[in-house]
Amino acid sequence: MSKLIPTIGLEIHAQVNSKSKMFCACTSDNFGKEPNTAVCPVCMAFPGALPMPNKAAIEKAIRAALAIGCHIPEHSKFDRKNYFYPDLPPGFQISQFDEPISEDGEVHYEVNGEEKVCRITRLHLENDAGKLIHQGGNSFCDFNRAGVPLMEIVTEPDIKSPEEASAFAQELARILQFVNSSECDMFKGMMRFDASVSLREKEDDPLTPRAEIKNLNSFRALESAIHYEINRQTKAWEENGGPPEKESTVGWVDDLGETKFLRWKESAADYRYFPEPDIPPIVATKEWVDELKKEVVELPLARRKRYEEKLGLSKSDAHLLVDNPKLCLFYEEVAEKSGDPKKAANWILSEVLGRMKEGMTVKELNFSADNLAELIRIIDEGKISGKQAKEVLDIMWVEGGSPDTIVKDRGMEQVSDTGELEKIIDQILETEQGKDAVETYKSGRKQALGFVVGQVMKETKGSANPKMVNEILMKKIG
Ligand code: ZN
Ligand code: MN
Repeated sequence: MSKLIPTIGLEIHAQVNSKSKMFCACTSDNFGKEPNTAVCPVCMAFPGALPMPNKAAIEKAIRAALAIGCHIPEHSKFDRKNYFYPDLPPGFQISQFDEPISEDGEVHYEVNGEEKVCRITRLHLENDAGKLIHQGGNSFCDFNRAGVPLMEIVTEPDIKSPEEASAFAQELARILQFVNSSECDMFKGMMRFDASVSLREKEDDPLTPRAEIKNLNSFRALESAIHYEINRQTKAWEENGGPPEKESTVGWVDDLGETKFLRWKESAADYRYFPEPDIPPIVATKEWVDELKKEVVELPLARRKRYEEKLGLSKSDAHLLVDNPKLCLFYEEVAEKSGDPKKAANWILSEVLGRMKEGMTVKELNFSADNLAELIRIIDEGKISGKQAKEVLDIMWVEGGSPDTIVKDRGMEQVSDTGELEKIIDQILETEQGKDAVETYKSGRKQALGFVVGQVMKETKGSANPKMVNEILMKKIG
Protein backbone atom coordinates (compact mmCIF):
# COMPACT_ATOMS: atom_id res chain seq x y z
CA MET A 1 0.00 0.00 0.00
CA SER A 2 1.19 3.48 -0.79
CA LYS A 3 2.22 5.69 2.10
CA LEU A 4 -0.70 7.46 3.81
CA ILE A 5 -0.59 11.24 4.11
CA PRO A 6 -1.31 12.73 7.55
CA THR A 7 -3.58 15.78 7.66
CA ILE A 8 -3.47 17.85 10.81
CA GLY A 9 -5.48 20.81 12.05
CA LEU A 10 -5.06 22.55 15.40
CA GLU A 11 -7.27 24.31 17.87
CA ILE A 12 -5.34 26.48 20.25
CA HIS A 13 -6.63 28.01 23.46
CA ALA A 14 -4.48 30.92 24.64
CA GLN A 15 -5.26 32.89 27.77
CA VAL A 16 -5.60 36.62 27.11
CA ASN A 17 -3.21 38.53 29.40
CA SER A 18 -5.81 41.07 30.50
CA LYS A 19 -5.84 42.10 34.17
CA SER A 20 -9.43 41.01 34.79
CA LYS A 21 -11.70 38.17 33.67
CA MET A 22 -13.79 38.18 30.47
CA PHE A 23 -17.13 39.24 31.98
CA CYS A 24 -16.40 40.43 35.54
CA ALA A 25 -13.82 42.42 37.50
CA CYS A 26 -12.13 39.44 39.19
CA THR A 27 -8.39 39.16 38.62
CA SER A 28 -7.21 36.93 35.77
CA ASP A 29 -3.92 36.38 37.53
CA ASN A 30 -4.86 33.50 39.76
CA PHE A 31 -1.95 31.11 39.36
CA GLY A 32 -1.03 29.62 42.73
CA LYS A 33 -3.81 31.50 44.56
CA GLU A 34 -5.83 29.90 47.35
CA PRO A 35 -8.77 28.09 45.65
CA ASN A 36 -11.99 30.09 45.20
CA THR A 37 -10.52 33.43 46.28
CA ALA A 38 -10.70 35.08 42.83
CA VAL A 39 -14.44 34.68 42.26
CA CYS A 40 -17.59 36.82 42.34
CA PRO A 41 -21.34 36.37 41.72
CA VAL A 42 -20.80 36.88 37.94
CA CYS A 43 -18.17 34.21 37.34
CA MET A 44 -19.97 31.93 39.83
CA ALA A 45 -23.18 32.49 37.81
CA PHE A 46 -25.35 33.42 40.75
CA PRO A 47 -28.95 34.13 39.71
CA GLY A 48 -29.40 37.70 38.58
CA ALA A 49 -25.68 38.46 38.09
CA LEU A 50 -25.02 39.88 34.62
CA PRO A 51 -21.87 39.59 32.51
CA MET A 52 -20.07 42.74 31.33
CA PRO A 53 -17.58 42.29 28.46
CA ASN A 54 -13.95 43.27 29.13
CA LYS A 55 -12.89 45.86 26.51
CA ALA A 56 -9.16 45.33 27.09
CA ALA A 57 -9.55 41.60 26.44
CA ILE A 58 -11.51 42.26 23.23
CA GLU A 59 -8.80 44.68 22.04
CA LYS A 60 -6.06 42.19 22.80
CA ALA A 61 -7.94 39.50 20.85
CA ILE A 62 -8.44 41.81 17.86
CA ARG A 63 -4.74 42.76 17.91
CA ALA A 64 -3.79 39.05 17.95
CA ALA A 65 -6.25 38.37 15.12
CA LEU A 66 -4.75 41.16 13.03
CA ALA A 67 -1.23 39.81 13.67
CA ILE A 68 -2.25 36.45 12.20
CA GLY A 69 -3.75 38.17 9.17
CA CYS A 70 -7.41 37.78 10.11
CA HIS A 71 -10.28 39.91 8.89
CA ILE A 72 -12.35 41.66 11.60
CA PRO A 73 -16.05 41.72 10.64
CA GLU A 74 -17.95 44.79 11.72
CA HIS A 75 -20.44 42.69 13.67
CA SER A 76 -19.73 39.75 15.90
CA LYS A 77 -21.58 38.28 18.86
CA PHE A 78 -21.31 35.96 21.84
CA ASP A 79 -23.22 32.69 22.07
CA ARG A 80 -23.97 30.21 24.79
CA LYS A 81 -22.39 26.79 24.33
CA ASN A 82 -24.33 24.49 26.62
CA TYR A 83 -22.80 21.53 28.37
CA PHE A 84 -22.74 20.25 31.90
CA TYR A 85 -19.53 19.89 33.86
CA PRO A 86 -18.91 20.48 37.60
CA ASP A 87 -16.25 23.14 36.91
CA LEU A 88 -18.61 25.22 34.76
CA PRO A 89 -20.92 27.15 37.12
CA PRO A 90 -23.59 28.41 34.65
CA GLY A 91 -23.88 25.12 32.73
CA PHE A 92 -22.77 26.89 29.57
CA GLN A 93 -19.67 28.57 28.21
CA ILE A 94 -19.96 32.05 26.71
CA SER A 95 -18.22 31.58 23.36
CA GLN A 96 -18.68 32.69 19.77
CA PHE A 97 -20.41 30.41 17.28
CA ASP A 98 -21.36 31.65 13.81
CA GLU A 99 -20.17 35.26 14.05
CA PRO A 100 -16.68 35.20 15.58
CA ILE A 101 -14.64 38.32 16.20
CA SER A 102 -12.23 37.40 13.37
CA GLU A 103 -11.81 35.04 10.41
CA ASP A 104 -9.55 34.00 7.51
CA GLY A 105 -5.94 34.57 8.43
CA GLU A 106 -2.61 32.85 7.86
CA VAL A 107 0.59 32.28 9.76
CA HIS A 108 3.97 31.99 8.05
CA TYR A 109 6.47 29.89 9.96
CA GLU A 110 9.68 27.96 9.40
CA VAL A 111 10.51 24.28 9.71
CA ASN A 112 14.20 23.47 9.33
CA GLY A 113 14.78 26.72 7.48
CA GLU A 114 11.91 26.15 5.05
CA GLU A 115 9.01 28.63 5.08
CA LYS A 116 5.48 27.19 5.43
CA VAL A 117 2.02 28.71 5.61
CA CYS A 118 -0.89 27.57 7.75
CA ARG A 119 -4.28 29.13 7.09
CA ILE A 120 -6.30 30.28 10.09
CA THR A 121 -10.05 29.63 10.03
CA ARG A 122 -10.89 31.93 12.90
CA LEU A 123 -9.88 33.44 16.22
CA HIS A 124 -12.71 33.91 18.69
CA LEU A 125 -13.18 34.87 22.32
CA GLU A 126 -14.66 32.79 25.11
CA ASN A 127 -14.30 32.27 28.84
CA ASP A 128 -12.43 29.48 30.59
CA ALA A 129 -13.92 26.93 33.00
CA GLY A 130 -12.67 26.32 36.55
CA LYS A 131 -10.49 23.43 37.57
CA LEU A 132 -11.21 20.06 39.14
CA ILE A 133 -8.72 18.84 41.71
CA HIS A 134 -8.75 15.15 42.57
CA GLN A 135 -7.32 14.36 45.99
CA GLY A 136 -7.50 11.26 48.15
CA GLY A 137 -10.58 9.85 46.47
CA ASN A 138 -12.40 13.21 46.54
CA SER A 139 -12.89 15.79 43.83
CA PHE A 140 -12.81 19.52 44.51
CA CYS A 141 -13.71 22.53 42.39
CA ASP A 142 -11.49 25.60 42.17
CA PHE A 143 -13.34 28.36 40.30
CA ASN A 144 -10.49 30.91 40.26
CA ARG A 145 -9.94 30.22 36.55
CA ALA A 146 -13.66 30.30 35.70
CA GLY A 147 -14.31 33.32 33.48
CA VAL A 148 -10.70 34.01 32.48
CA PRO A 149 -10.65 35.19 28.82
CA LEU A 150 -9.41 32.77 26.19
CA MET A 151 -8.68 33.16 22.51
CA GLU A 152 -9.57 30.05 20.58
CA ILE A 153 -7.60 29.89 17.35
CA VAL A 154 -8.65 27.29 14.78
CA THR A 155 -6.45 26.36 11.82
CA GLU A 156 -7.32 24.83 8.48
CA PRO A 157 -6.00 21.26 8.05
CA ASP A 158 -2.77 22.55 6.44
CA ILE A 159 -0.25 20.85 8.72
CA LYS A 160 1.39 17.66 7.44
CA SER A 161 3.66 16.40 10.22
CA PRO A 162 4.15 16.47 14.01
CA GLU A 163 7.26 18.64 13.49
CA GLU A 164 5.25 21.19 11.48
CA ALA A 165 2.56 21.25 14.15
CA SER A 166 5.08 22.01 16.86
CA ALA A 167 6.94 24.64 14.79
CA PHE A 168 3.65 26.33 13.90
CA ALA A 169 2.46 26.33 17.52
CA GLN A 170 5.73 27.83 18.71
CA GLU A 171 5.62 30.58 16.10
CA LEU A 172 2.01 31.35 17.05
CA ALA A 173 3.04 31.60 20.72
CA ARG A 174 5.78 34.07 19.79
CA ILE A 175 3.34 36.18 17.74
CA LEU A 176 0.84 36.33 20.61
CA GLN A 177 3.61 37.38 22.98
CA PHE A 178 5.05 40.00 20.61
CA VAL A 179 1.65 41.72 20.25
CA ASN A 180 1.17 41.46 24.03
CA SER A 181 -2.09 39.50 23.83
CA SER A 182 -1.03 36.42 25.80
CA GLU A 183 1.91 35.37 27.94
CA CYS A 184 1.62 31.82 26.52
CA ASP A 185 3.22 30.45 29.67
CA MET A 186 2.84 26.71 29.10
CA PHE A 187 3.89 25.94 32.65
CA LYS A 188 0.92 27.95 33.95
CA GLY A 189 -1.43 26.32 31.43
CA MET A 190 -1.89 29.55 29.46
CA MET A 191 -1.69 27.76 26.11
CA ARG A 192 -3.34 24.41 25.34
CA PHE A 193 -3.75 22.49 22.10
CA ASP A 194 -6.28 20.14 20.54
CA ALA A 195 -4.97 18.38 17.44
CA SER A 196 -7.19 16.77 14.78
CA VAL A 197 -5.43 14.01 12.89
CA SER A 198 -6.62 12.03 9.88
CA LEU A 199 -5.04 10.14 6.99
CA ARG A 200 -5.50 10.25 3.23
CA GLU A 201 -4.07 8.23 0.36
CA LYS A 202 -3.68 11.23 -1.91
CA GLU A 203 -3.27 14.96 -1.28
CA ASP A 204 -6.54 15.89 -3.06
CA ASP A 205 -8.67 13.04 -1.67
CA PRO A 206 -11.54 14.22 0.53
CA LEU A 207 -10.76 14.34 4.27
CA THR A 208 -11.45 11.17 6.22
CA PRO A 209 -13.04 11.17 9.73
CA ARG A 210 -10.53 12.64 12.18
CA ALA A 211 -9.55 11.84 15.73
CA GLU A 212 -9.23 14.90 17.91
CA ILE A 213 -6.58 14.72 20.63
CA LYS A 214 -7.73 16.88 23.54
CA ASN A 215 -5.87 19.21 25.88
CA LEU A 216 -2.19 18.91 25.05
CA ASN A 217 -0.28 21.30 27.25
CA SER A 218 3.24 21.40 25.89
CA PHE A 219 4.90 21.56 22.47
CA ARG A 220 6.54 18.24 23.26
CA ALA A 221 3.20 16.60 24.13
CA LEU A 222 1.69 18.06 20.94
CA GLU A 223 4.41 16.56 18.79
CA SER A 224 4.51 13.16 20.55
CA ALA A 225 0.72 12.77 20.57
CA ILE A 226 0.41 13.47 16.84
CA HIS A 227 3.27 11.03 16.15
CA TYR A 228 1.52 8.34 18.13
CA GLU A 229 -1.85 9.04 16.54
CA ILE A 230 -0.49 8.84 12.97
CA ASN A 231 1.06 5.43 13.72
CA ARG A 232 -2.08 4.17 15.43
CA GLN A 233 -4.31 5.28 12.56
CA THR A 234 -1.94 3.84 9.96
CA LYS A 235 -2.09 0.41 11.66
CA ALA A 236 -5.90 0.63 11.95
CA TRP A 237 -6.14 1.57 8.25
CA GLU A 238 -4.04 -1.45 7.28
CA GLU A 239 -6.14 -3.78 9.45
CA ASN A 240 -9.52 -2.40 8.35
CA GLY A 241 -8.57 -1.60 4.78
CA GLY A 242 -9.59 2.05 5.13
CA PRO A 243 -10.24 5.05 7.38
CA PRO A 244 -12.47 5.03 10.50
CA GLU A 245 -16.21 5.48 9.94
CA LYS A 246 -16.79 8.12 12.60
CA GLU A 247 -14.98 11.06 14.15
CA SER A 248 -13.66 10.44 17.65
CA THR A 249 -12.22 12.30 20.59
CA VAL A 250 -9.10 10.85 22.22
CA GLY A 251 -6.99 11.81 25.21
CA TRP A 252 -3.20 11.85 25.54
CA VAL A 253 -1.74 9.82 28.39
CA ASP A 254 1.63 11.45 28.87
CA ASP A 255 3.05 8.80 31.24
CA LEU A 256 2.33 5.99 28.79
CA GLY A 257 3.08 8.01 25.67
CA GLU A 258 -0.16 6.95 24.00
CA THR A 259 -3.63 8.22 23.15
CA LYS A 260 -6.78 6.54 24.46
CA PHE A 261 -10.32 6.58 23.07
CA LEU A 262 -12.67 8.90 25.03
CA ARG A 263 -15.89 9.21 23.01
CA TRP A 264 -17.38 9.69 19.57
CA LYS A 265 -17.19 13.37 18.72
CA GLU A 266 -19.94 15.82 19.69
CA SER A 267 -21.43 17.88 16.90
CA ALA A 268 -22.35 21.56 17.19
CA ALA A 269 -25.99 20.50 17.63
CA ASP A 270 -25.08 18.72 20.89
CA TYR A 271 -24.10 22.07 22.38
CA ARG A 272 -27.43 23.76 21.54
CA TYR A 273 -25.74 27.07 20.74
CA PHE A 274 -27.88 30.18 20.91
CA PRO A 275 -27.06 33.92 21.06
CA GLU A 276 -26.06 35.12 24.55
CA PRO A 277 -29.05 37.29 25.52
CA ASP A 278 -27.21 39.28 28.21
CA ILE A 279 -24.46 40.72 25.99
CA PRO A 280 -25.02 43.05 23.02
CA PRO A 281 -23.18 42.31 19.75
CA ILE A 282 -19.62 43.65 19.33
CA VAL A 283 -19.38 46.45 16.78
CA ALA A 284 -15.84 46.81 15.45
CA THR A 285 -15.70 50.18 13.72
CA LYS A 286 -13.05 50.82 11.08
CA GLU A 287 -11.49 53.56 13.25
CA TRP A 288 -11.16 51.22 16.23
CA VAL A 289 -9.64 48.40 14.16
CA ASP A 290 -7.25 50.86 12.45
CA GLU A 291 -6.03 52.06 15.85
CA LEU A 292 -5.40 48.46 16.94
CA LYS A 293 -3.63 47.74 13.65
CA LYS A 294 -1.05 50.38 14.55
CA GLU A 295 -0.21 48.41 17.69
CA VAL A 296 0.66 45.25 15.75
CA VAL A 297 4.44 45.13 15.98
CA GLU A 298 6.84 43.41 13.59
CA LEU A 299 6.26 39.64 13.48
CA PRO A 300 8.94 37.12 14.46
CA LEU A 301 9.68 35.88 10.92
CA ALA A 302 10.28 39.41 9.60
CA ARG A 303 12.25 40.27 12.71
CA ARG A 304 14.64 37.33 12.29
CA LYS A 305 15.24 38.29 8.66
CA ARG A 306 15.89 41.94 9.56
CA TYR A 307 18.30 41.02 12.36
CA GLU A 308 20.33 38.89 9.96
CA GLU A 309 20.15 41.06 6.85
CA LYS A 310 20.09 44.60 8.24
CA LEU A 311 21.75 44.35 11.66
CA GLY A 312 24.30 41.70 10.69
CA LEU A 313 23.48 39.33 13.53
CA SER A 314 24.28 35.65 13.11
CA LYS A 315 21.40 33.29 12.33
CA SER A 316 21.63 31.67 15.73
CA ASP A 317 21.69 35.02 17.58
CA ALA A 318 18.69 36.24 15.59
CA HIS A 319 16.79 33.05 16.45
CA LEU A 320 17.76 33.13 20.12
CA LEU A 321 16.51 36.70 20.49
CA VAL A 322 13.24 36.20 18.62
CA ASP A 323 12.53 32.92 20.45
CA ASN A 324 12.23 34.96 23.61
CA PRO A 325 9.84 37.86 22.76
CA LYS A 326 10.14 39.75 26.06
CA LEU A 327 13.94 39.60 25.95
CA CYS A 328 13.81 40.54 22.27
CA LEU A 329 11.81 43.71 22.94
CA PHE A 330 14.32 44.58 25.68
CA TYR A 331 17.09 43.96 23.13
CA GLU A 332 15.44 46.35 20.63
CA GLU A 333 15.60 49.11 23.22
CA VAL A 334 19.22 48.43 24.17
CA ALA A 335 20.25 48.22 20.49
CA GLU A 336 18.61 51.52 19.68
CA LYS A 337 19.84 53.41 22.73
CA SER A 338 23.41 52.11 22.56
CA GLY A 339 23.60 52.59 18.80
CA ASP A 340 25.38 49.23 18.52
CA PRO A 341 22.97 46.38 17.68
CA LYS A 342 25.73 43.77 17.45
CA LYS A 343 27.28 44.54 20.82
CA ALA A 344 23.79 44.81 22.33
CA ALA A 345 23.06 41.27 21.05
CA ASN A 346 26.35 39.95 22.44
CA TRP A 347 25.82 41.48 25.85
CA ILE A 348 22.23 40.30 26.12
CA LEU A 349 22.76 36.78 24.81
CA SER A 350 25.98 35.96 26.62
CA GLU A 351 26.12 38.13 29.74
CA VAL A 352 22.48 38.90 30.58
CA LEU A 353 20.95 35.58 29.48
CA GLY A 354 23.91 33.76 31.06
CA ARG A 355 23.11 35.32 34.43
CA MET A 356 19.34 34.72 34.21
CA LYS A 357 18.11 31.71 36.15
CA GLU A 358 15.60 29.29 34.67
CA GLY A 359 12.15 30.90 34.67
CA MET A 360 13.41 34.42 35.39
CA THR A 361 11.81 37.14 33.26
CA VAL A 362 13.10 40.46 31.89
CA LYS A 363 10.65 42.24 34.18
CA GLU A 364 12.60 40.95 37.17
CA LEU A 365 15.90 42.51 36.06
CA ASN A 366 17.24 45.13 38.47
CA PHE A 367 18.27 47.48 35.67
CA SER A 368 16.65 49.05 32.60
CA ALA A 369 17.47 48.91 28.89
CA ASP A 370 18.83 52.44 29.34
CA ASN A 371 21.31 51.20 31.92
CA LEU A 372 22.57 48.39 29.70
CA ALA A 373 22.85 50.73 26.71
CA GLU A 374 24.90 53.10 28.87
CA LEU A 375 27.22 50.25 29.87
CA ILE A 376 27.85 49.44 26.20
CA ARG A 377 28.49 53.12 25.46
CA ILE A 378 31.05 53.63 28.22
CA ILE A 379 32.99 50.56 27.01
CA ASP A 380 33.02 52.07 23.51
CA GLU A 381 34.18 55.41 24.89
CA GLY A 382 37.07 53.61 26.60
CA LYS A 383 35.97 54.60 30.10
CA ILE A 384 36.10 50.99 31.27
CA SER A 385 37.45 47.78 29.78
CA GLY A 386 35.27 44.85 28.74
CA LYS A 387 36.50 42.98 31.79
CA GLN A 388 35.55 45.84 34.10
CA ALA A 389 32.17 46.08 32.38
CA LYS A 390 31.40 42.53 33.48
CA GLU A 391 32.14 43.54 37.06
CA VAL A 392 29.87 46.56 36.66
CA LEU A 393 27.13 44.28 35.33
CA ASP A 394 27.58 42.02 38.37
CA ILE A 395 26.95 45.05 40.58
CA MET A 396 23.99 46.21 38.46
CA TRP A 397 22.56 42.70 38.69
CA VAL A 398 22.32 42.87 42.46
CA GLU A 399 22.00 46.56 43.26
CA GLY A 400 20.67 48.00 40.01
CA GLY A 401 21.53 51.53 39.07
CA SER A 402 23.39 53.42 36.39
CA PRO A 403 26.75 52.00 35.28
CA ASP A 404 28.18 55.51 35.06
CA THR A 405 27.50 56.08 38.76
CA ILE A 406 28.81 52.63 39.70
CA VAL A 407 32.08 53.33 37.83
CA LYS A 408 32.51 56.77 39.43
CA ASP A 409 31.57 55.67 42.96
CA ARG A 410 34.02 52.78 42.88
CA GLY A 411 36.85 54.58 41.10
CA MET A 412 36.76 52.06 38.27
CA GLU A 413 37.34 54.58 35.53
CA GLN A 414 40.08 53.67 33.08
CA VAL A 415 42.98 56.03 32.82
CA SER A 416 42.56 57.32 29.28
CA ASP A 417 44.47 60.51 29.90
CA THR A 418 47.35 60.26 27.38
CA GLY A 419 49.59 62.59 29.36
CA GLU A 420 49.33 60.56 32.52
CA LEU A 421 49.72 57.22 30.71
CA GLU A 422 52.77 58.55 28.87
CA LYS A 423 54.40 59.53 32.14
CA ILE A 424 53.91 56.05 33.60
CA ILE A 425 55.13 54.35 30.42
CA ASP A 426 58.25 56.52 30.31
CA GLN A 427 59.07 55.59 33.90
CA ILE A 428 58.79 51.88 33.14
CA LEU A 429 60.87 52.14 29.96
CA GLU A 430 63.62 53.79 32.05
CA THR A 431 64.02 50.72 34.31
CA GLU A 432 66.50 47.92 33.48
CA GLN A 433 63.73 45.42 32.93
CA GLY A 434 61.92 47.91 30.72
CA LYS A 435 65.00 48.44 28.57
CA ASP A 436 65.53 44.67 28.30
CA ALA A 437 61.95 44.16 27.20
CA VAL A 438 62.29 46.72 24.40
CA GLU A 439 65.60 45.10 23.23
CA THR A 440 63.99 41.68 23.14
CA TYR A 441 60.98 43.10 21.31
CA LYS A 442 63.22 44.71 18.69
CA SER A 443 65.09 41.42 18.21
CA GLY A 444 61.79 39.93 17.03
CA ARG A 445 60.10 38.55 20.13
CA LYS A 446 56.88 40.57 19.95
CA GLN A 447 55.42 39.19 23.17
CA ALA A 448 58.22 40.82 25.21
CA LEU A 449 56.17 44.04 25.30
CA GLY A 450 53.59 42.23 27.39
CA PHE A 451 55.90 42.90 30.35
CA VAL A 452 55.67 46.67 29.87
CA VAL A 453 51.87 46.59 29.45
CA GLY A 454 51.66 44.43 32.57
CA GLN A 455 53.68 46.97 34.56
CA VAL A 456 51.44 49.85 33.39
CA MET A 457 48.39 47.88 34.52
CA LYS A 458 50.07 47.27 37.88
CA GLU A 459 50.91 50.96 38.32
CA THR A 460 47.35 52.03 37.48
CA LYS A 461 45.77 49.17 39.47
CA GLY A 462 44.29 47.74 36.27
CA SER A 463 42.50 50.90 35.22
CA ALA A 464 44.67 51.87 32.25
CA ASN A 465 42.96 51.71 28.89
CA PRO A 466 44.88 48.82 27.27
CA LYS A 467 44.22 50.00 23.73
CA MET A 468 45.73 53.37 24.55
CA VAL A 469 48.74 51.86 26.35
CA ASN A 470 49.54 49.86 23.22
CA GLU A 471 49.18 52.87 20.96
CA ILE A 472 51.50 55.03 23.06
CA LEU A 473 54.03 52.21 23.35
CA MET A 474 54.09 51.65 19.59
CA LYS A 475 54.68 55.36 19.04
CA LYS A 476 57.56 55.45 21.52
CA ILE A 477 59.37 52.32 20.31
CA GLY A 478 58.64 53.05 16.68
ZN1 ZN B 1 -15.79 37.20 38.89
MN1 MN C 1 -12.97 26.54 23.04
